[in-house]
Amino acid sequence: MPRQVAPPPRRMAQAAPAKEWSGEDGASGHPLMTADAIRRSAQNFDRCVAGMWPDAARRGISQQSFERFTADLTPDLRIMDLMDSQPEFTKAVWDYLDILVTDARIARGREVLAKNAATFAAVEKAYGVDRYIIAAIWGIESNYSTQGGDRSVLNSTATLACIGRRQGYFKDEFLAALEILHHGDLTPQQLRGSWAGAFGATQFMPTAFKRFAVDFDRDGKRNVVDDVPDIIASTASKFKKDGWQPGQTWGYEVEVPQGFNYLHADRAKNYTIAQWEHLGIRRAGGKPFPRATDKAFLLAPAGADGPGFLMLGNFRSIMRYNPSEAYALAIGHFADRLRGGTPFVQQWPRQERVLSRDERFELQQLLAQRGFYRGEPDGNLGGETRKALRSFQASIGAPADGFASSGVLDRLRGR
Ligand code: CA
Repeated sequence: MPRQVAPPPRRMAQAAPAKEWSGEDGASGHPLMTADAIRRSAQNFDRCVAGMWPDAARRGISQQSFERFTADLTPDLRIMDLMDSQPEFTKAVWDYLDILVTDARIARGREVLAKNAATFAAVEKAYGVDRYIIAAIWGIESNYSTQGGDRSVLNSTATLACIGRRQGYFKDEFLAALEILHHGDLTPQQLRGSWAGAFGATQFMPTAFKRFAVDFDRDGKRNVVDDVPDIIASTASKFKKDGWQPGQTWGYEVEVPQGFNYLHADRAKNYTIAQWEHLGIRRAGGKPFPRATDKAFLLAPAGADGPGFLMLGNFRSIMRYNPSEAYALAIGHFADRLRGGTPFVQQWPRQERVLSRDERFELQQLLAQRGFYRGEPDGNLGGETRKALRSFQASIGAPADGFASSGVLDRLRGR
């Protein structure tokens, strides 16, 4: 799907009139994200970029390339707002799946698979990575090359390398982006993407490009933006290096019995399928599991009232693309749908509403007051909060699934 023949992307059109920086302190409270620090760093931007020349030279970038590609860089301070934005509401996992795995995207994905069947077959043979997973990544990351950010990756990573709270990380991304341009794999016009520097059909960061991109069509350029064979093979190359097991799936939807002890639902608890069956877990829809010796962990993303999933090693490979369980579940499910699979058998608890940021803070504070949570309340519900919630749920005789429902918040409030 060369970008030039794609219909005008919706997200790009919305992002086109570049908004100005808010001029406010960042919400992270990091000392490098205050408005004053951002202004000071922005004033020093040209000197900061020029100061990266010795590192660029060590990477084999010529002085001519360095001067040419850095000549027009300007700090894009709007990125500082985006970096520190903390949305009031996050999405429920079922809403997230609904948005990502749509009938339209499935239909488009099947067209892409049919049109490029020979390439997908060659890549499967070379890398041992399932074509449906690659097609799912491509569909969700850029809607098959029709959506994506339109910021210069070099300019964004230069901004982030010189301003804000993650300069060390982004210095490496900036230098890797310079290497891509110096080697001529992509032009600056092609190297455009998200504010954080991800680009191309499957949203590689510059350092990921360096590690994984391949020139599968052998035209001398690793073009993960416009060359379909390079897009498919580069994504497969990443999965292969991230431990994808050929011939295996990512996981199964499962039925969890009433009264199940959800302390087993823990990413660290990797049991065999036979052990899970012994604990009463069944594959949803009555199908048998293909192999009893596979190891898996149990995920119940919506708690005891929603579907469960047994996640195999390949699920962890998907999470190396984006370390979010909801993302990896969406990719795995989308891949199954592209293959001709059905929607999930069990219902999500759609009547549940997602807690707001203030409510998430309150939940953590109440858990801390009762001695279940030891961390600093931050509004982010991670593993520690889930653990604390489980202990609280167990103490009141509720299923200890660690799911932050409005019901459990009410119980904490003493209602
Ligand atoms: Ca190529």
